[in-house]
Amino acid sequence: MHFTCPNCKEKLNIEEKRAVCKNGHSFDRARGGYYNFLLGNTGGVHGDNKEMVLARRAFLGGGYYAPLARWLGGLALELTPKDGCLLDAGAGEGYYTDFIERTLYENNGISDVSAFDISKDAVREIGKKNSRISLAVAGSYHMPVSDGEFDTVINTFSPLALEETRRVLKSGGHFIMAIPGEMHLFDLKAVIYDTPYKNQVQDTALEGFELIIDEPLTYKFNLDTPEAINNLFMMTPYAYRTKPSDRAKVGALSSLECTADFRVFVYKKL
Ligand SMILES: [Zn+2]
Repeated sequence: MHFTCPNCKEKLNIEEKRAVCKNGHSFDRARGGYYNFLLGNTGGVHGDNKEMVLARRAFLGGGYYAPLARWLGGLALELTPKDGCLLDAGAGEGYYTDFIERTLYENNGISDVSAFDISKDAVREIGKKNSRISLAVAGSYHMPVSDGEFDTVINTFSPLALEETRRVLKSGGHFIMAIPGEMHLFDLKAVIYDTPYKNQVQDTALEGFELIIDEPLTYKFNLDTPEAINNLFMMTPYAYRTKPSDRAKVGALSSLECTADFRVFVYKKL
């Protein structure tokens, strides 16, 4: 158990169906196997809502991004000591987390993987996929873990909380980050927008880290049903911002050849 109390930052210890810190703050384990550290914070839905989580699950379940999952799994295996621990920060519905955990578990016979996301619906999905992963509902800007706790931290397409990422890593630990490359889903954007733009890739230097790997992963994939196209659309940021008339253009497609363009970075904490 790597999680800490969100109230006082002390370590949490597991007792039956709850986790308790030495100051007596207590968190019940939800039936889905996770701890909700946003409880009592504010009402409402945080992060992806259920509809988006289900669209993401359906799309990723089609295996379109499996090449990225395999790559991340291989990197995690190579960079994490056999008895080390890994954190997926902003894990979404856990497609990559699950693949990475299985890679570690199947190769090492053990694994120590923790993950959190700000969306409770997303965290529930991780719990359904894989009961070996320690799970929490929490935000990246207040990671519920101690300083210098993890050998490896992963971030796939989640907002980067740089200081927190650096804080929770051991010295010499690795940070693996995947982001959309310039041409990622350009074909989908070309359907929606008159003048589609390329994704901007920002400065890749991160303070306190040495960049040791910066590689692209680019390939084409085919979406053969309107459902698959809609699921992909629903998991993009464009789903929020697209006018109904432009959205209808996506709805009218029966197939689409798409570009996957990822960039994967590995940083070593100095
Ligand atoms: Zn406490």
